[in-house]
Amino acid sequence: MITIALSKGRIFQETVPLLQEAGIVAGEDPEKSRKLIIHTNHPDVRLLILRATDVPVYVQHGAADLGVAGRDVLIEHGGEGLYQPMDLKIARCKMMVAAHPAFDYARAVRLGQRLRVATKYPTIARDFFAERSMHIDLIKLYGSMELAPLVKLSDVIVDLVSSGSTLKANGLVSVADVMDISSHLVVNQAALKLKRQELQLVLDSFSRALAA
Ligand code: ATP
Ligand code: MG
Repeated sequence: MITIALSKGRIFQETVPLLQEAGIVAGEDPEKSRKLIIHTNHPDVRLLILRATDVPVYVQHGAADLGVAGRDVLIEHGGEGLYQPMDLKIARCKMMVAAHPAFDYARAVRLGQRLRVATKYPTIARDFFAERSMHIDLIKLYGSMELAPLVKLSDVIVDLVSSGSTLKANGLVSVADVMDISSHLVVNQAALKLKRQELQLVLDSFSRALAA
């Protein structure tokens, strides 16, 4: 049995064509079904539908052999117990620093002001500001980050941006690029040794699909 951990939404949607290349077709649409284990046309392959941040946790502990997770999630997780063979180049977006236009970010940087940073990504945010020798107070949030600068919970947020429409809808502007994000395939290190042949077939199909 091969167990693949995925999250709903864009990661699932963009992984479907890669699975198809490997001859794997999901038996149900997780957006419609409430099932968390989805069987496939392949009796030996099943999919687990998880919260994005839980994908590396299931793979690390071997509850899933493979998973697809964003670079953001993998950095925050730390990557322990995971082998990361390929960038699938799906679910692409950017990690950015954003602020209210009334907040002069460039000036704050110039003057070395202490910044209040709200984010769901504390490791990425800490590293980014530490590399620039900027002192921050970090406020950990779990969602709706755009609200934080509007009610003065923070000076800036560190968040994912793709089209920029959520920032715009809330009157925020991006003030710095942190990194490009895409989703990566992750593999349980022990499974890779124990199920080498089975897993290699899937890994090869994924890399063929990527090359095509
Ligand atoms: P939730 O939205 O339920 O709080 P989440 O934000 O953890 O959960 P998703 O929004 O489904 O989960 O994002 C999953 C992954 O998809 C992220 O880890 C990131 O790598 C990628 N992603 C997030 N937002 C975008 C976006 N706007 N465009 C492209 N990829 C994105
Ligand atoms: Mg989200």
